[in-house]
Parts: sequence; C-alpha cells; structure tokens
Amino acid sequence: MSTFLNARYADLEEYTPGEQPRDRRYIKLNTNESPFPLSEAVVKAVATAASNLRLYSDPTCHALKKALADRYQVPADCVFVGNGSDDILNFAFMAFGGNGVVYPSISYGFYRVFANLHGIPATEIPLLPDFSIDITPYRNAHRLVVIANPNAPTGLLLPVSQIEILLQQNPDSVVLIDEAYIDFGGESCLPLLKQYENLLVVRTFSKSRSLAGARLGFAFGSPAVIADLEKLKYSTNPYNVNSLTQAAGLATLQEDGICFANCCRIIENREYTVSALSSLGFTLTDSKANFVFAKSDRLSGEDVYRRLREKGILVRHFNRPEIADYTRITIGSRTEMEALVTALRELLEDET
Ligand SMILES: *Cc1c(COP(=O)(O)O)cnc(C)c1O
Repeated sequence: MSTFLNARYADLEEYTPGEQPRDRRYIKLNTNESPFPLSEAVVKAVATAASNLRLYSDPTCHALKKALADRYQVPADCVFVGNGSDDILNFAFMAFGGNGVVYPSISYGFYRVFANLHGIPATEIPLLPDFSIDITPYRNAHRLVVIANPNAPTGLLLPVSQIEILLQQNPDSVVLIDEAYIDFGGESCLPLLKQYENLLVVRTFSKSRSLAGARLGFAFGSPAVIADLEKLKYSTNPYNVNSLTQAAGLATLQEDGICFANCCRIIENREYTVSALSSLGFTLTDSKANFVFAKSDRLSGEDVYRRLREKGILVRHFNRPEIADYTRITIGSRTEMEALVTALRELLEDET
C-alpha cells in the first residue's frame, strides 16, 4: 500500500476471483464458465465490430437493450446492461444501499466486498442447517435485500412464491434477485416485475451464454429503478459496455436456441455428475446451477481441491468453516465430467 491511498480504502477486503492459471492445461471446473464455444456467427459479429473500434461504443446500448426487451418481453426502459453483472451489482449497491443491505451469510462473495467498498452497513443472515434460505428475517428489512437465486455456492433455488413474499414484505426497499444461474433449471421471478416496482432482476451472459470474457450483464427493473442505475453509470463510466461486447451479446441473442440447447446439456451432465459422485460416497445439494456442491465422506474439501489440482482438474474450495467440507465443481462437457469422476475414484482408492 502506498502512503497516498485514501484512508477509507485502507482496510478493503478484495474479492478473490477463481484462479485462471496458465502454467499447464487444466480441466477448468472452478469458475462456472461454459464449456461450449461461441458460434461462428458470434465470432464474425465481433470481428465486424472490431473494424469500428475507432469510434466510441453506443453509451445507450440501444440495439442490445431492444433485443433483450424483445427476448424477455419487457419494455425497453425496464432494461439495464453492464460490464458483467458485477458492474450492475456495484451500481445497485451504490444506488439502493443507502440504509444498508441484507443478504445470506453464505452467498456470492462480492456482496460483502461491495458493501465494504461503499461503506454500506451489511447484515448477513445465516442459512438454515440444510443451506436453504429462511426468508422470515428479511421481513421489513428497510434496506436493500440481495438474494442470489439459485444461491452460490450451494446451488439451491428459492421458489418464486417466496420471492414474491420478500417483495411484499419490503415495499420500501429494492429486492435484488441475482439470477446468474437461473437458466440451468430454475424458475425466474421476472414475471413479478409487472406487479412490483421494487424488484431488480440481475442476469449475466457469463454462465449460460459462453461470454464470461466479454463481460456482459443485464438487469430488469421498473423504469424508475433502471433510471437510477443509469444515473450512476453516467456518473462512473458511460461506455461501460464496449462495442465488441455489444456486438457479441446481440449476435448471441439472435440465435438464443443455442443457449437453451447448451443449458439442457449442462443439466444432463449435472444429473450424471450427481449420480456418479453419490455412488462415490459424496453428499450433494440439490443444485439447480451449472455447478454441484459436494462433500466427500472420506476426504476434506481442501484435500479434494488440492489433489484434483495435482491431477490437472481445478475446482473451487471455500475456507469458511460452515462449508469447508465442500467443494464447488462446475459442470463442463461430458468428457470433462467423466475425467472428474475417474480422478475422484482414483483419489478415493488411494485412500484405502
Ligand atoms: C458469476 C456470478 C456473478 C458475476 O457474473 P459476471 O456477469 O461475470 O460479472 C454474479 N453473481 C453471481 C451469483 C455469480 O455467481
């Protein structure tokens, strides 16, 4: 740290991204990326946009917002786009965290980081012992409510009926539902947008649409809520979504059947993985995301992580005591999941 750093940032606890090592080829099951490549059409659209990089990107993201509005059947002034959904979460914490924020104590790590960064008092509510979310303590929170649905890293889904109760019980706060993983078998709460102007649904192209590196997130909210996010965007970085990314997003939406087909394959591979790991003595949550959350009856979470890494397979382990027995394993291609199962079987055989 330099002596010049603003004192208010001295104690910031940064977000730790999953590792992206370059030392050897790994089977990467640690950051919930898609195993499926981009289509030719998307690559071509990006190449075409590249010839125009001389110009600033469209700060209104007009074409992309219109395509999202059409795809999700919402008015265009209910759509916001950002540089990944992290960018949108950042703006949402700034915009709606004035009275504080409340979120589950085990959830996406960035919520704590953003609260900290913006000096927003955070209330972290423990999960129930089975890792599910009890919505009772969120009643009349009088502060921003943030729920990842499905939750990370547990993969557990909260039914839309419960989200509707959260919206009714918090009429004076924004309820932000982070649907980064909703395409993998969950039911979106987006239809509630018509009735609840305090709802903000945040989504991303990173997980289900193979565009993690492009950095593209989107959100749906009432026109007034979206206008607040725009105000912060234009006060921070009006060109937050570059023109290559806008082109990639637009081309991806033009053949959205591919997204659906890829998600179906991920769901099949998830079912395969759950059943194979159960046979190996793992306990798994009922994940509705593109990862499983698994605990071995013989190896610690740390051991699973470390020894898979030695075998060239990356998974994610979190040090928090409540979940230290578990590892989070991204669902990749069938070949990758078969390699994972083989590697785990070998590890367990070494144990005996
Ligand atoms: C991956 C993830 C994000 C961030 O996604 P980007 O759009 O790549 O910034 C947001 N929320 C949750 C719960 C995630 O897992």
